[in-house]
Amino acid sequence: MTAKYIFFTGGVVSSVGKGVTAAAVGRLLKQRGFKVAVQKLDPYINVDPGTMSPYQHGEVFVLDDGAETDLDLGHYERFIDIRLNKVCNITTGQVYAEVISAERRGDFLGGTIQVIPHITNEIKRRIGLVAKTTGAEIILVEVGGTVGDIESLPFIEALRQLRSDLGRENTVFVHVTWLPFINATEELKTKPTQHSVRELRSYGISPDVIVARSDYPVDESLREKIAQFCDVEKRAVIPMVTEPILYEIPLLLEKAHVADYLMERLKLTEPHAPNWTAWETLVKETRAKKPKVSIALVGKYVELHDAYISVRESLKHAALALGVELDLKWVHSADLEKGRCMDVLEGVNGIVVPGGFGSRGIEGKILAAHFARTHQTPYLGLCLGMQMMVIEFGRFVLGTDNVNSSEFDRSTANPVIDLMPDQQGITAKGGTMRLGLYPCQLQPGSIARDAYGTDVVEERHRHRFEFNNNYRQLFNEHGMVFSGLSPDGRLVEIAEIKDHPFMLGTQFHPEFLSRPTRPHPIFVAFMRAACIKAGVKYNDPPEVLEP
Ligand code: GLN
Repeated sequence: MTAKYIFFTGGVVSSVGKGVTAAAVGRLLKQRGFKVAVQKLDPYINVDPGTMSPYQHGEVFVLDDGAETDLDLGHYERFIDIRLNKVCNITTGQVYAEVISAERRGDFLGGTIQVIPHITNEIKRRIGLVAKTTGAEIILVEVGGTVGDIESLPFIEALRQLRSDLGRENTVFVHVTWLPFINATEELKTKPTQHSVRELRSYGISPDVIVARSDYPVDESLREKIAQFCDVEKRAVIPMVTEPILYEIPLLLEKAHVADYLMERLKLTEPHAPNWTAWETLVKETRAKKPKVSIALVGKYVELHDAYISVRESLKHAALALGVELDLKWVHSADLEKGRCMDVLEGVNGIVVPGGFGSRGIEGKILAAHFARTHQTPYLGLCLGMQMMVIEFGRFVLGTDNVNSSEFDRSTANPVIDLMPDQQGITAKGGTMRLGLYPCQLQPGSIARDAYGTDVVEERHRHRFEFNNNYRQLFNEHGMVFSGLSPDGRLVEIAEIKDHPFMLGTQFHPEFLSRPTRPHPIFVAFMRAACIKAGVKYNDPPEVLEP
């Protein structure tokens, strides 16, 4: 059977939640027993977002196979509870790199290489790879940016061609737009939506479904107007009012009968009726009043919450499973360096130091680790956060400030965190870190082993530096437990501190594998310790639900 395709384009403005919409539609279909996969087409010229500043791009989401991808892949994986692969995020950079290297090899000898057909063919080939590599029956494809952007034109053209190649019963176009609200007249406006649909039409694509995002309720007459002006059926105009509880969106789309419409259009019969009990419980519990547990997230990109989106979501998943409400305090590590915000650390029930690169704000993160260790405050260090915990401990054990990671001070006397041997000599930046899934052997009797309830786990990585084994024995003698190691015992994957309620750091990124209905065990263990510190009652997490 050929796969069915649902294409998502965006109109009017960006950042209206196209990624979340695609993810939620994916959930609707999975809930009916379809095997789905989602692909993001990013029009920028970088090969992947791995080399971009989080200020430009938000978080870099890492997949099992080590692909460094757009943060929308995190939405897809969390909402649908699937695991995607590297073909699920393609960029203009990748497409051109492939075509240009083929040209250099001589594959097109004699020919002129053009956007149509060479670039569009390569885009179509890569879209085709999703079904081949995942075996999904329905592929959702999201085009980044907004219709009309110069950069996304080849992608849009490739989708237009796919519609003629595969036929209308195998392809649906969903256009996600924004209805601005005019304060003076107190009304929502559809004109920008009409214009963006006209723009899409000028490229040869008529949308089948319009998802109209808005901050205010959209009434029936407005739906009718959009249907009429944009030439879609009224039932295919889906108002999507801003929803503070992200995981409510699939339920709203279900109520709007989006899946029924899509199945009708794609001539699909659902394998079974959707069962929303677990999601309804999830949303109900999110809404319920619960005791608050406050967590400080100490980072250097805290102005942009998207830079830590998976960490925030993982904390929320764990809090929800424990029946408490996450009260997240964003703390800028540079503020701690200037002596500010220490009162925030004093007031919280737990501290998280997430991943990061480069020396800015490092000392503030070390201060946060020091505060946590000396105040018995639960601490979770993620990648760089684990390295900060090691440096802090080293300074205390060795009795000198001359302890650092060689990432920040090449000539430090005690490089307790050092470049991994297989990273020596690597100078190119793109895709060269230790990336993706690696196994980790848990040590009996440790907090980590207890949390996971199993001996070996596989987690996603993205780093160049590691714990320096020359210090392992000394640190261990002073109370640092190396509770997770690579199976050959060489690489420290998890470190924890004895005689502390919970001070644990992972060299990997557990935040990439947490799901709303299957919170990550390390986050649950950390949040439980924070509940105890807060003195609030918590539930034992419910049994792990099926993905
Ligand atoms: N900069 C550190 C390293 O490369 C930590 C990386 C991270 O936090 N993802 O090892």
